[in-house]
Amino acid sequence: MKSGGLLESASAARPTPHGVAARGVPASEERSPSRGAAPMSTYFIRSRIGKICVAIASASPTEMIQNAEDISRENHFLEFRLDYLPNPVAAIPRIKQFLYERSEVTAIATCRRVATGGKFKGTIAAELEILEKAALAGCHLIDIELQTAEHMKPAQMQRLRSRGAAIIVSYHDFENTKDLDRIFQRIHPFQPEFLKIVSTAKTLSDNVTMMRFLDRRRDEANLIGISMGEQGTISRVLGLRAGSVFTFASAHAGEETGPGQIDARTLRETWRIDQIDASTRVYGVAGNPVRHSLSPLIHNMAFRRETVNAVFLPLQTARMNDLLTLTREVPLHGLAITMPFKSEIIRHLEKTDALSEKIGACNTVVRALDGKLYGFNTDVAAIVRPLERRLPLPGARILVLGAGGAGRAAAFGLAEKGAEVFICNRTPETAKKLARQAKAKFIRRDQLAKSSFDVIINATPVGMRSMKPASPLEPKEINARLVFDLVYNPIDTPLLRMAREKGLPVVTGVEMFVHQGARQFEIWTSKPAPEEEMLRVVVHALRQDAAAGRA
Ligand code: NAP
Repeated sequence: MKSGGLLESASAARPTPHGVAARGVPASEERSPSRGAAPMSTYFIRSRIGKICVAIASASPTEMIQNAEDISRENHFLEFRLDYLPNPVAAIPRIKQFLYERSEVTAIATCRRVATGGKFKGTIAAELEILEKAALAGCHLIDIELQTAEHMKPAQMQRLRSRGAAIIVSYHDFENTKDLDRIFQRIHPFQPEFLKIVSTAKTLSDNVTMMRFLDRRRDEANLIGISMGEQGTISRVLGLRAGSVFTFASAHAGEETGPGQIDARTLRETWRIDQIDASTRVYGVAGNPVRHSLSPLIHNMAFRRETVNAVFLPLQTARMNDLLTLTREVPLHGLAITMPFKSEIIRHLEKTDALSEKIGACNTVVRALDGKLYGFNTDVAAIVRPLERRLPLPGARILVLGAGGAGRAAAFGLAEKGAEVFICNRTPETAKKLARQAKAKFIRRDQLAKSSFDVIINATPVGMRSMKPASPLEPKEINARLVFDLVYNPIDTPLLRMAREKGLPVVTGVEMFVHQGARQFEIWTSKPAPEEEMLRVVVHALRQDAAAGRA
């Protein structure tokens, strides 16, 4: 393994020896089927393309060309997924015209058959005929599946190669990430200009497998390697620096041609794929689920704004060992920890701060200069500080609903500040236990209507967008001067609406979310966090979420 972790290795484009002899032909040159032409050299192609190839999957030739026109304003590297068209041949003259007019565009033609994961229902012969026409129309690369290549007679391959386009031989595994070297060995004898292997990540470690493979083989071929699926995001973002020549993106969200594909703008703007290099530090939010986490949004924005060379990824996993492997192998420089790992992570860290130890929960991990992992809890400060700004905490009567991770952070943090904390929970035994540990008091639900508090805090998930709209309390149980709902999606929860209707001031969960994220940023970077900007992007995203009616 290279020093500092294989996934930190440099991403310089290194053309390989094969394909070098063939001279590149200008994109706009007519290719004659009778004359034949040498395939475009990999040097020529690599000098034209960027890091992202945008796949265009449209239902008609008109729509496909319209999309190509739109996309090519920002991206000059496109893939025409001809297999998405009912009649792919009908699109060829339009593509020819488009490429003639847009000579800055480099195009891949793909007509993948159903048997190999595409949409084309025709035979191998029909697929080859379409690809040959696409090459003659000016497409710079044509993609054939390994299974197709293995069925082709040498003369057929020769004929295809004589049409002037470079060849990508690709293999897709929709189930697993395994046998990558064996697949490489099957593809390599065809001597394609580009060799593409797309697997499916079922774990975070599968990304490590893919990136190790890319790093190992990068000098032997022009490789494209990606792991599909929700857990494959890491390979899509970091695969380039491990050795993938380029990666694929969808034109827009909702137009993916492969599971887990990310749209080009998000790859550029959120993941800043163009800036990722050997020294980019990698961070992530680990838990299950993290699909809708807004942590990548705020941290990537903060890294960009504060010019920190770092990227923040979603790390979806149900297994601690999987997370630990990824953390060690990439290596990760910091983690935001969410459910269900906040307690379990502690015993895997070198040391945690006293508060995390006491609460038994850690939401922030940082890799120190000694290479070891240290834990902190920023949830506590994110609950305490918004309240401290609004009222004196010593002696304040504070009701905490819930006795899970957030409830524990609230109880310990507020008790430490001298508040009189009351815990109420659906499962009374858990509340009693927490009350004992945090030197707080247990209170039954049926006592609430007759009790009053300075602050009521909701530390249960009741009110979250993903659940049935509900408040954890009835109006008669809300007897307080201030209500703080830790739920942040939606911003305006049923509990907060109820409190406002009673004329009470409120604190939203967004304030906590941004605060805990800002402290994480400071722990990781030792720079002040751009807290206002973080708040702005979160509120914007949540409003968009609400407008789209997403769960
Ligand atoms: P957790 O560890 O799973 O604890 C959930 C708590 O809520 C438990 O005490 C549970 O009671 C109770 N609960 C669950 N479902 C309930 C229901 N339907 N009715 C009544 N009580 C219920 O979760 P957590 O990490 O503490 O997080 C709790 C919530 O806080 C999250 O859902 C999130 O919305 C919010 N949060 C916000 C931030 C932020 O930055 N704003 C940060 C962390 C958490 P039992 O003991 O009976 O199971």
